[in-house]
Amino acid sequence: MKLDWIAFDADDTLWQNEEIYREGREKFLEIMAKYSVQDRAEEAVDQVELENLPHYGYGVMSFILSLIETAVEITEEDFRGKDVRALLELGKEMLTAPPQVFAGVPEVLKELQSHYPLMLITKGDLFHQQRKVNASGLGEYFRVVEVVSRKTVPVYRDLLNRHRVAPDQFLMVGNSVRSDIQPVAALGGWALHVKDHLSWSHEQGALSPEEQARVFEVGRIDQVGGVIHRLTQAGNPAG
Ligand SMILES: [Mg+2]
Repeated sequence: MKLDWIAFDADDTLWQNEEIYREGREKFLEIMAKYSVQDRAEEAVDQVELENLPHYGYGVMSFILSLIETAVEITEEDFRGKDVRALLELGKEMLTAPPQVFAGVPEVLKELQSHYPLMLITKGDLFHQQRKVNASGLGEYFRVVEVVSRKTVPVYRDLLNRHRVAPDQFLMVGNSVRSDIQPVAALGGWALHVKDHLSWSHEQGALSPEEQARVFEVGRIDQVGGVIHRLTQAGNPAG
């Protein structure tokens, strides 16, 4: 295998993300307990979040709007202004929380960037994602940072075309089968699935046998460098 570019997902691949949302949901459920609708809140918010993805896309602001919408709905519009304020404050805390970079990440990026140009491909709010890249201190390792609204086959195709990268010389590293692995494999690229961290259930997905042949797995982010070196020294791993 010959690689021209290596790309990394950010959320739950380089730094913690899902954990912050879990804590946010717990805080939401605490607020809803005051209205005695806590038992319905969890299921309702899952549904509202998925329904809102086409309207708001991914990210904290979308999440907070979905919490407010859920709260207004299940309290039959009795949800109080001071609790709306508490949810808005929760959003600001989530947006300004310093990214918790996983152990071993800077070492992996530093080593790989001496052999390959690296690209960061992350989805969500543009402003928030850029802030996390800056605050993480990892920005210097990436030649290109792309913030996209979703990670689908057409989005990756456009991105590879713009950077003039042949799919079979491109490898994407990420935690999400749905966003980082399946679409890249479907395009004829290579994907390395890092399985160790919490992922949102929405990010799970299935692979066809053809796609599976273009996907590799590691248990931890600090194993990524070793696997890539083995793959690029071997012949055709799909053959
Ligand atoms: Mg991710």
